[in-house]
Amino acid sequence: MLTKEKVFELIEKHHIEYIDVGYMDYASLSRVRTVRVDQLESLFTSGLNFYGGMMSFNGFDEKIENPMYGIEAGDFFAIPDPSTFAILPHRKNTARMYCDLIDEHGNPWDGCPRQVLKKVLKEAEDILGGKMHMAFEQEAYLMREVDGELVTADDTHCFSIEGLQMQENFLHEFVEAMEMSGVDIEKISSEYGPGQYEINLRHKPALRAADEQLIFMQLFKQIALKNHLIGTLIPKPFDHLSGSGLHVHISMTDEQGNNVFEKAEDPLGLTEQAYYFIGGMMKRARSLVSIGAPSINSYKRLYPGSYAPSHVSYGIGNRSVLIRVTEKRRGSRFEFRGADGTCNPYMLATALVAAGIDGVKNKIKPGEPVDFDVGTISEEQMKEKNIELVPSSLEEAMDVLEADELMAEVLGPIWREFINVKRSEAKKYSRIVTEWERRMLSTRF
Ligand code: GLU
Ligand code: MG
Ligand code: MG
Repeated sequence: MLTKEKVFELIEKHHIEYIDVGYMDYASLSRVRTVRVDQLESLFTSGLNFYGGMMSFNGFDEKIENPMYGIEAGDFFAIPDPSTFAILPHRKNTARMYCDLIDEHGNPWDGCPRQVLKKVLKEAEDILGGKMHMAFEQEAYLMREVDGELVTADDTHCFSIEGLQMQENFLHEFVEAMEMSGVDIEKISSEYGPGQYEINLRHKPALRAADEQLIFMQLFKQIALKNHLIGTLIPKPFDHLSGSGLHVHISMTDEQGNNVFEKAEDPLGLTEQAYYFIGGMMKRARSLVSIGAPSINSYKRLYPGSYAPSHVSYGIGNRSVLIRVTEKRRGSRFEFRGADGTCNPYMLATALVAAGIDGVKNKIKPGEPVDFDVGTISEEQMKEKNIELVPSSLEEAMDVLEADELMAEVLGPIWREFINVKRSEAKKYSRIVTEWERRMLSTRF
């Protein structure tokens, strides 16, 4: 783990002159300022100031109505965490650090998603007696701009060799940059969509895993840019091609490194606590999707038969479900398949753990696992088996979240402002007239 002292050593050794210091806001935008290295010492104690109103912008970078903090609010301060220091190979003498946000009195601010995650993890780890691990598994497209239009960067198929070869410069530079940031890469594949790739990271303690997702989100785009490509994590960049999911694998290990959720004799290989954890996630599933899939584009990905979840269900191996328990031979863990690369990973991890722990505390049973393609289920069967749909729009997602008292309690001011930010995005989008609409309708009316 990098300490402050080690950071200064690395700065000296690698002639670092600039540091990108930043955090992620409720619209999942990275907010960064670059400081000269001689400022760094004071940042560790006083923090770097950002405009107070900056948390209350929507994803289109517009101020929202009735913000928690407006133009009149003073600044808030970001304290860099040395464990997130990394040298950026694609930039000149530049390194990066992520921050915790504090208020003007120097206290941890409850509007800071990274700190709320730390709090929730502590509670979960105390209750379950292990270390919560996560692996974020992001799919993403590489695109090019041709005659003003965005097209996929190649036409390759799932697990193709040609894709790996065609994008080798990008992929290798990306992996190298990720590794320089301390991320361990396990696998690289060309995914189902042409130009779509998946790069798998090794699981890590949950806070670090969320930091690494932020690293992924930034580096994928930045290294693509350097290779004259456009990298995108948006869930559905092309309406006729496979969507990009962000699957989150959740596991827990005790001090001896044993899997806390594993029980060999159980049919699904899970302990009682693991079932309750899933039960908690199932109970809050629609809210978890709302936090994990928080953009107008997210709801174009979640439909039956797409390998992305459309219904609230869990099952073993099954890729149509929302919570997939991995096959016994892969070690007992669960994969939440409802999120995408437009979410704030700290908020998503917080919500997943809070829901799971609520299940453990209240011994919530998850119901029966599903062993068929749940996307093919009829309305009658849904009623009979008590299976619900995931939200179908950003507006519906925010209605779901607004009614969730656990999320309100756990996320505090973040919950309210996130809903405001997302409602503002939905409202903006509802007023946009698209080219498709103009053409389709004007031939008929
Ligand atoms: N692309 C799918 C999604 O949107 C997932 C495919 C897979 O299982 O890897 O979630
Ligand atoms: Mg995949
Ligand atoms: Mg997966």
